[in-house]
Amino acid sequence: MKVTTMERIEDKLYQNRYLVDTGRPHIKVRPHLSPSPNLLALTQICPAKCYEENDAGQVEIVVDGCMECGTCRVLCEANGDIEWNYPRGGFGILFKFG
Ligand code: SF4
Repeated sequence: MKVTTMERIEDKLYQNRYLVDTGRPHIKVRPHLSPSPNLLALTQICPAKCYEENDAGQVEIVVDGCMECGTCRVLCEANGDIEWNYPRGGFGILFKFG
């Protein structure tokens, strides 16, 4: 019987590639003085860690590495905290399956 070691999820995610569309982020955070609770929550729940709180307490996004999971869209698009679009064709996440 062949014994295999279990792969870690981080190692599998590392196989994916991301093509940056320089100067054209597909998600934008609406300018704000202080974030709504939902927007602030994205700093904790985005699986790609795209959202961060800056020194002024505002939430910023860097979309590099976004997996297009839609979590932030569900949580913050309807209330206007963010503007969400898919990346242009050929840009964004390139999943490697298997
Ligand atoms: S779509 Fe998912 S991975 Fe991309 S920024 Fe939103 S929560 Fe993060």
